[in-house]
Amino acid sequence: MDFDVSDEDRMIVDTATRIGEAFGLEYWRKLDSEKAYPREIWAAICQAGLAGVALPVEHGGSGLGMVQMARAIEALTAGGAGATLAQMFMLTPIFGGVAVSSYGAETMRTDLLPKIISGKVRFSMALTEPGAGSNSLEIKTFARQNGEGWLLSGSKIWITGVEEAEKMLVVCRTTKKEDAQRRADGLSLFVIEPERAGVSHHPIEKLGTNTLSSSTVFFEDVALTREDLLGELDRGWPALLDVLNTERIVTTAGLVGAGRLALKLAGEYARNRRVFAGRPIGSYQGVQFPLAQASAEIECASLMNLKAAWLCDQGRPYGGEANVAKLIAAQAASDAIERAMQVYGGMGYAKESHLERLWRDARLFKFAPVSEEMILNFIAQHDLGLPRSY
Ligand SMILES: Cc1cc2nc3c(=O)[nH]c(=O)nc-3n(C[C@H](O)[C@H](O)[C@H](O)COP(=O)(O)OP(=O)(O)OC[C@H]3O[C@@H](n4cnc5c(N)ncnc54)[C@H](O)[C@@H]3O)c2cc1C
Repeated sequence: MDFDVSDEDRMIVDTATRIGEAFGLEYWRKLDSEKAYPREIWAAICQAGLAGVALPVEHGGSGLGMVQMARAIEALTAGGAGATLAQMFMLTPIFGGVAVSSYGAETMRTDLLPKIISGKVRFSMALTEPGAGSNSLEIKTFARQNGEGWLLSGSKIWITGVEEAEKMLVVCRTTKKEDAQRRADGLSLFVIEPERAGVSHHPIEKLGTNTLSSSTVFFEDVALTREDLLGELDRGWPALLDVLNTERIVTTAGLVGAGRLALKLAGEYARNRRVFAGRPIGSYQGVQFPLAQASAEIECASLMNLKAAWLCDQGRPYGGEANVAKLIAAQAASDAIERAMQVYGGMGYAKESHLERLWRDARLFKFAPVSEEMILNFIAQHDLGLPRSY
């Protein structure tokens, strides 16, 4: 194993750090309060080539991999954004870029990948339904054959970024579960525009991640063509799992960045705040230990995530590592931010301290895109060989 960081990776991290800090804490506080989309930072990220870091050179990407994407996101999110910025990577470079480059037809790749990399096209991804969250195979949204194409009907919930997206990756059934040989057969992926006739969407009021809307989406006989199909008909599930695992790597990288940012803020405050006998509160072990514990866990999560990313880049199985890293990162980032708020005392509750935003945003990742419980189920069953419990 080689833990050295290459010169190329170092340059990527330097660029990401510069952009992350240029659009720092105040930028995100303003956007959060206005519920405004982070247009300017995404433009800067695309201009620097970071959206295309893991995408093919022939379509304008850097042809590197998930290791570089993870490193870039860690640095970007630590600059002030926190975990939400990682969602922008999930949506477009992952659900757009990785999905299209891995499974798209040549015409789709040639059309969409350069636009994804340059920031011209943004994606959203519609999997979750009111009746199917953790149990994705229960989705009911159905595309029924109509001549050469299909008509799509059903509803989705919590679809992030659809208000701002030019494209949406839709997961639906093309063969009903009861007619499929196996539960996992009969799912298909389509790429459509949210403006297409028969699609409607409505934002949901939510706790945090205010800079990206999350919406209910309805499909009423939306016409789909062969060109909209991504990958093989009825064989969408394995392709989706493949893409979802890269999403975990991106999520974890964002949580690592958010955790490091919170610990940096906590450290700065703890070194300066004096309450008793002129001593800084950071000199008390009661203040230090929880921060040190969170720091240790965040660094372990980062390492496990880089291992998952490296395995992914080698074309080897990495789902287990990616899930473990995400589990620990979500807990450690939440703990780091929570403890940072505690260090700030009353000021941790003030908007101007930024921690309350990081706290609201990081909370999401304990249950999304995959919940703690479902990861523990996976570890118990696959790593420990215990019987499936559900
Ligand atoms: C802000 C936000 C943004 C999102 N963005 C998107 C998006 O862009 N696209 C998209 O498709 N989805 C999105 N989601 C949906 C998200 O992925 C789901 O919320 C998540 O997968 C959990 O599904 P659920 O909410 O239906 O919870 P449920 O599946 O109903 O689970 C509820 C609880 O029960 C637990 N549970 C369920 N089954 C078991 C079991 N077998 N063993 C132990 N515990 C269990 C879960 O862990 C969880 O704690 C988003 C959600 C939110 C809130």
